[in-house]
Amino acid sequence: MPATFSHHFDTPLYDEKATIQTGLFINGVFVDGLNHSTIDVINPSTGKTITQVSEGTAKDVDRAVEAARHAFNTSWGLKVSGATRGQFLYKLATLMEESLDEIAAIESLDNGTAFGVVKGWVVPFSIGLIRYYAGWADKISGQVIETDEGRLTYTRHEPIGVVGQIIPWNAPLLMFAMKIAPALAAGNTIVIKPSELTPLSALRVCSLVQEAGFPPGVLNVVVGYGNTVGSAISSHMDIDKIAFTGSTLTGRKVMEAASKSNLKNITLELGGKSPNIIFNDADVDQAVNWACHGIFFAQGQICFAGSRIYVQSGIYDEFLAKFTARSKMHKIGDPFGADSYQGPQISSTQTERVMGYIKSGVDQGAKVHLGGQRHGEQNGNFITPTIFTNTTPDMKIVQEEIFGPVSVVIKFEDRQDVIRQANDTIYGLAAAVFTQNISQAFEVGHALKAGTVNCYNEVSAAVPFGGFKQSGIGREYGSYALEHYVNVKAMHINIGHKME
Ligand code: NDP
Repeated sequence: MPATFSHHFDTPLYDEKATIQTGLFINGVFVDGLNHSTIDVINPSTGKTITQVSEGTAKDVDRAVEAARHAFNTSWGLKVSGATRGQFLYKLATLMEESLDEIAAIESLDNGTAFGVVKGWVVPFSIGLIRYYAGWADKISGQVIETDEGRLTYTRHEPIGVVGQIIPWNAPLLMFAMKIAPALAAGNTIVIKPSELTPLSALRVCSLVQEAGFPPGVLNVVVGYGNTVGSAISSHMDIDKIAFTGSTLTGRKVMEAASKSNLKNITLELGGKSPNIIFNDADVDQAVNWACHGIFFAQGQICFAGSRIYVQSGIYDEFLAKFTARSKMHKIGDPFGADSYQGPQISSTQTERVMGYIKSGVDQGAKVHLGGQRHGEQNGNFITPTIFTNTTPDMKIVQEEIFGPVSVVIKFEDRQDVIRQANDTIYGLAAAVFTQNISQAFEVGHALKAGTVNCYNEVSAAVPFGGFKQSGIGREYGSYALEHYVNVKAMHINIGHKME
């Protein structure tokens, strides 16, 4: 019998109870994993165990896929109208809104991002995404294509089938909503694996999926490890498409497994090392505010964090002084603290990884201009906002994704040189340009090899998001995401052509 976890949040910002079913969610009900094993969910702020959740295995993936296939063939997919699918999604969004504070508290507890940020932005944005795709569900259609008078030719945009989805821990609810909403709107059924580090908000939403009355098997959640559940999803012969968000390293493994199994359709949202370019004529105070937000928001655990800050020589000293002063103002601490801005990194492993990058920067000759240390007690995973200067382009801290509150501030002289440096990594997820010269803004924006320009932590449900180069394949958000969840079928109807 799967367990239930109840927790009373006794904090200044939230003082209520939350209840989560901790089993796997398969075929519309919470069940134990077939191995009856569990995974400890750790509070990143304290290092203490919050609760245990059921651990899924490859066999649990099999039964989730079976449920998803049955639902696709009988109660979802082409068996139900887009309008009906939209109604289910609208209902889910409404139920999430009714539990907004509770979901936000669960997410903050599990992931460590400040409660104010999660309640004010993460959960409302996730709900908005579900509503956005609910609106699309009855507007997915093909084209009638004029060929000649003897034929009627049209296209159908059919759901692909059973979709496998794998998501990371950095923004668990947002990743969950971003993945499930377009897939369900387009008529697919789902087997999704949240990160085992942060499964709680997805499980809470599964109770609301039940309450909304979705047919059993339409959405299945199998919590488990990457090398078991993730790998089983990537290589499953009866999963038709895989949508993955995570590191470039794991993305390669997922793509390999997809190609070696049934050559399943694939989209990848991967890592980044995004440049933030600030010209002499920029409004320096605004550039400082955006640069701080770009790298330190959510502890720097954002795929498109603006981690490389290029500042033109004429304002370099002023920018660095103001950027340093502003970074020092961030209150680091308990996500439920009244004025906390920066919470803990997700885990001790991730904290060690970030500290390893900081050490590599020092070892390779860069200067720690600010921070570079752990903050508070050792088991709390907090790292001070860190600014490196005196870097060279080949350093690991300039080339590799750190996924923590670590920035490099680099002086540049001319436009062509900064474009070259900005494009000089394997990544191409995002970039920003600060200038008051409109021609310069467009010229540089167009020259940057990035999926998004000028959006540090600015995203919209309607605007595509994704990577160039090794930052990914495909797009999330907007109508672009829907294109990855349909098969296009061309129908040629012979009206009058005779074969002699
Ligand atoms: P990982 O690549 O380590 O993990 C992502 C997911 O993949 C997790 O659920 C993980 O499970 C799973 N996984 C691990 N190994 C395998 C495998 N062999 N087969 C299938 N699945 C596997 O990334 P992180 O969780 O560390 O997340 C951080 C990364 O995600 C960063 O690189 C970041 O840039 C990227 N990201 C990209 C975004 C984008 O939109 N482009 C958005 C957010 C994050 P487990 O937890 O068990 O390891």
